[in-house]
Amino acid sequence: MAASINIRNLSIKCGNCGEYQTLVGFSRRADWNVYTYECESQECDPEVTRTLLEVPSALDEFARRDPNWKHGGQDDMGDGES
Ligand SMILES: [Zn+2]
Repeated sequence: MAASINIRNLSIKCGNCGEYQTLVGFSRRADWNVYTYECESQECDPEVTRTLLEVPSALDEFARRDPNWKHGGQDDMGDGES
């Protein structure tokens, strides 16, 4: 099988101010897990510099290992969507 991806191994840097962005959210879109990062720098408006990181759910080791990030989304939405 293909290699897995763990977003803990990634760092998301803001292209505007150069600071690291912080993981603030998680959602699913079809076969993708979407992680939302926001810049905590005072210089940046999170509405403008927000980053959406999309990981193929089949490869997403972080979501698989950390049930907190699923927060029941699998049952609430996308029921048999795939
Ligand atoms: Zn920034």
